[in-house]
Amino acid sequence: MNFFQHPEYKHHEQVVFASDPATGLRAIIAIHDATLGAAVGGCRMYPYASETHALTDALRLSRGMTYKAALANLPFGGGKSVIIGDPKRDKTPDLMRAMGRAVEQLGGRYVLAEDSGTTPTDMRYAAESTAHVAGIENNPDGGDPSPMTAAGVFAAIKQSALYVYDTEDLRGLRIAIQGLGHVGYHLAKLLQPTGAILYGSDLHQPNLERAIEDFGLNPIRGDAILSFDCDILAPCALGGILNADSIPKIKARIVAGAANNQLATSDDDQRLMQAGIIYCPDFAINAGGIIEVFHQRQDSSLAIRQQAVSVIPRTLLAILQAAKAESSGTEAIAMRFAEEQIAEHSGQNKDLAMSA
Ligand code: NAD
Repeated sequence: MNFFQHPEYKHHEQVVFASDPATGLRAIIAIHDATLGAAVGGCRMYPYASETHALTDALRLSRGMTYKAALANLPFGGGKSVIIGDPKRDKTPDLMRAMGRAVEQLGGRYVLAEDSGTTPTDMRYAAESTAHVAGIENNPDGGDPSPMTAAGVFAAIKQSALYVYDTEDLRGLRIAIQGLGHVGYHLAKLLQPTGAILYGSDLHQPNLERAIEDFGLNPIRGDAILSFDCDILAPCALGGILNADSIPKIKARIVAGAANNQLATSDDDQRLMQAGIIYCPDFAINAGGIIEVFHQRQDSSLAIRQQAVSVIPRTLLAILQAAKAESSGTEAIAMRFAEEQIAEHSGQNKDLAMSA
């Protein structure tokens, strides 16, 4: 493989391949851009079909983290790690400790957090080998960032409803959530009291059943959720679901969800615009978790932490307005805003981030 020709390689600062035969660890840590500070990003564990798939994910996700942190005005750079393996079968406390050792070798340039396939408990195991971990279970300052991620997506859904329907009132709107895991479940919990009519899908039956039981959510089987007749589609599973095949079938007016890398290619930004779909860029609205991580490390009060996610709907509105004014896709605008933010603050925030 010619790494520097990889289509997702976008001048990443550092990419580390880590292995530990004793525990079976095979991981990739990608630091995309540490201009604004230490690269913070979740650790995804997934049974990737190949190492190339894992590398693609790490490169794309770490770049998204750079944009996410910049748009949220955080003094963090963008990084991400992936562990190749099935979390249900291959994950052990020792494997997470080995991952912690790999992170430790980067000396704080990368800070580990949970993501799909890893949990706050896993972060606690990793923290036995490194101090550079966020979102640890039983941490008195909090742990799982997912509820705050869901709070940010919820705020974005209300903002996009206001933008499209002239009201934040979600009553009667049909909202379909793909993926009812850590974030999707908490999103459903926030949406249920609004009177929105909830639909949802999950490949993992217990997660689907939990949401049906707790929130009266209406189940949709499989990928039919993407073309389901609803007002708002909230992708909260995995990426790549907005593509040349799925976009023409989407009936929702708004797409706003937590999943990273929802667009399969950058062309899909234009496709969504031409289809008249208001796409809320994933990295602009799923920053609640990283905002929470920052405030945990700052020892901020719960009130400050809850208030901090209000940056998300404000930024989203600016993106939607600029996209309309420039007849542009929303993701292109969001990336430009983030790049402007990095250029403006270049070098100023590093000390704060390293001490955070
Ligand atoms: P999770 O693993 O807890 O939940 C994902 C759920 O999606 C699982 O229940 C899984 O069974 C389900 N799923 C997978 N493929 C599916 C499909 N094709 N159809 C329906 N369901 C499917 O992960 P999470 O922490 O809730 O994160 C969800 C997404 O949000 C991921 O893309 C993640 O990267 C992103 N994200 C999460 C956070 C966070 O704070 N956890 C922050 C930012 C972004």
